[in-house]
Amino acid sequence: MARILTGIQSSGRPHLGNILGAILPGIELSKNPENESFFFIADLHSLTSLKDGALRTEYVRAVAAAWLALGFDYKKNVFWRQSRIQEHTELAWYLNCFTPFPMLANATSFKEKSEKLADVNAGLFTYPVLQAADILLYDANIIPVGKDQKQHLEMTKDIANRFNQLAGEDILILPEPQIDEAVMTVPGIDGQKMSKSYHNYIDIFVPENDLKKVTKKIVSDSTALEDPKNPETDITFKLYSLVASPSDVAAMRQNYEKGGYGYGHAKQALFECLLEKFAEPRKIFNYYMENESELEAILKEGEEKARAIAQQTITKVRKVLGFSS
Ligand code: ATP
Ligand code: MG
Repeated sequence: MARILTGIQSSGRPHLGNILGAILPGIELSKNPENESFFFIADLHSLTSLKDGALRTEYVRAVAAAWLALGFDYKKNVFWRQSRIQEHTELAWYLNCFTPFPMLANATSFKEKSEKLADVNAGLFTYPVLQAADILLYDANIIPVGKDQKQHLEMTKDIANRFNQLAGEDILILPEPQIDEAVMTVPGIDGQKMSKSYHNYIDIFVPENDLKKVTKKIVSDSTALEDPKNPETDITFKLYSLVASPSDVAAMRQNYEKGGYGYGHAKQALFECLLEKFAEPRKIFNYYMENESELEAILKEGEEKARAIAQQTITKVRKVLGFSS
């Protein structure tokens, strides 16, 4: 039985990149009866960037509603808020003391921001350690993530190795990243990686008109309507190819190459495709956003299950570190 674990930060509402890069691949894996899935809302991680408590509560609900809307079976699997299981922060502290400074200083997520060090808080710097704790607490074997997380998972393995060496036994289980190469990194409307913090994302759960507006904002070049266009470099085409059927993608490619087909047409096709593909999840998402107590009960149920497992790991860790009598 393999344990799959994945988390989404509550730093914003989940977007198409999260959905294609983490949520849907995670749900797919969870359907295999051989697998047990552990999906959590990384609300502690979101504190590295988001300080507003009311917004965090709203985003936590949105992330939870998105998992459920996209078909996550919370009865069969485990589903919780990171902050409600205190063992995450406890293990993170222990692991901090096994993490060499240069390992963190070399993390791409930190390096990207290192030009503006004044904006980097210690939480952001040690974020990969909290992430290692998230994974190791549950003995997770498989971690389906986007390419951006590959380096962090290598760090988790490194940290776990160092810990196990000291302990003289394999207390922490080394996880494997599982990267869906077909999905890769979903681009945002400006062509950079789609990210909550870049404000370049497509939120598929917004009202129809807003969804249409955001697809219209996707950056495109100035090739004239009648001229052929290069599908390989166009963001709208790239996004369409990630959500539409292969035959529809082939048809759009032909339209691009023959000319007479404007970016406006492509954006409209993408909008319609998103609306159709996510029709059911959009309804379920809104249902849970409006039924707060139902969502809360589901999360509490998951937290009972998560806590029991986290406590088993932390008991072993405390013992080997001399923190229990
Ligand atoms: P933030 O900007 O706050 O880091 P984010 O949008 O990058 O937010 P995360 O919560 O960091 O989202 O990521 C959650 C999961 O979604 C991770 O597994 C990550 O690999 C995946 N993911 C995030 N953005 C993308 C993307 N653009 N394409 C594919 N997968 C993505
Ligand atoms: Mg991220």
